[in-house]
Amino acid sequence: MQQLYQAQDRIEAQILHDFLDRHLIETVILGDYLSGAVGELPADIYPSLWLIHDDDLERGRELLHRFLQDANQRVAQGAWTCSSCGETVSESFDLCWRCGQARPTPE
Ligand SMILES: [Zn+2]
Repeated sequence: MQQLYQAQDRIEAQILHDFLDRHLIETVILGDYLSGAVGELPADIYPSLWLIHDDDLERGRELLHRFLQDANQRVAQGAWTCSSCGETVSESFDLCWRCGQARPTPE
């Protein structure tokens, strides 16, 4: 396995994991409290994302780059309002955390 990215926190790691998953790249998050099954790795404060298939490294890096650019844009855009239930959703989420509606794409 190849390490792709060291995340700031569990949430970032999970968002990136889901993002890559949508692009058919399988990753696993290691180094946080939920990955206790991987007991042989040294304890790590920050969760990191590992590629299951080494062949995905190049594409994974490209997507990571895109993801980080998008993330910066999102922070600039700020929170968004769900068109379905009206919930205010933090900029780091693509889906409404209340009803699961996708973030509206900017016109
Ligand atoms: Zn909603």
